[in-house]
Amino acid sequence: MFKIITPNRMKRLFALIICLSISVCLMATNGNAELNLFKGKKKIIVLDPGHGGHDKGARGAARGADGAFEKTITLSFARMIATELGSKYRAPLTRADDYLLGIPDRTAVANHIEADLFISIHVGGSFLHKASGITVYYFKEMLGPDIIFNSATSKTYNSDNDRTTWDNIQKRHITRSRALAKLMQTQINDRIKYMETRIEGAPLVVLSGADMPAILIEIGYISNPGEEKKLCDTRILSEFAKVISKAIDNFLSEKNRNYSATDLR
Ligand SMILES: [Zn+2]
Repeated sequence: MFKIITPNRMKRLFALIICLSISVCLMATNGNAELNLFKGKKKIIVLDPGHGGHDKGARGAARGADGAFEKTITLSFARMIATELGSKYRAPLTRADDYLLGIPDRTAVANHIEADLFISIHVGGSFLHKASGITVYYFKEMLGPDIIFNSATSKTYNSDNDRTTWDNIQKRHITRSRALAKLMQTQINDRIKYMETRIEGAPLVVLSGADMPAILIEIGYISNPGEEKKLCDTRILSEFAKVISKAIDNFLSEKNRNYSATDLR
């Protein structure tokens, strides 16, 4: 049996052809849009404000109602850096408010969105009130089963074998992470004169699972009354955030592309 094209069928067929043509055009447009989006993709810097929720982190030297908590300063500081980076980069936070987030969940955020950098932010705390300064950490594997690392960020990675797994994937990025830490140290020392900036390799768990260059910055000691005052000063913190974001920008800019050549990957 033949199916003949009646005038009504002709109309329906004509309508179908028009629909198909529009669909094909839209698909082509979407394809181009996705391609353009990919081409113009902003680099992603995941900022990780340490602690949160009932984990308050280190506490300020000024005890009582006025004593500041590490978790509050790290969140404010991460927001400031995100604002600085905002126009040129995407800078999501691992936690956007005052709640607890597990350590593996922090790097998981960065890994999931394939971030270009992971920056964890902490504040130092010590029973010694004179302990002071800024420390930029990069991941460094320690040999031997027993590791003692005394810091506010005291959770350390325990190396008992040489395998690279998701738990220690940062091993692939150590060269670039160290380069970022070094650049950060130099630029902070150039601009921030009231605190000394050190660089240190340590087996920090929060860095170990990051599948991209990653550092942890301890922005002074909250247990030091002088530094606590600075850390609670929004103007000083905001200037410091500008220095950090400038260093990030420099690291990701073309002139630092040579870091890729020494990447261990
Ligand atoms: Zn901390």
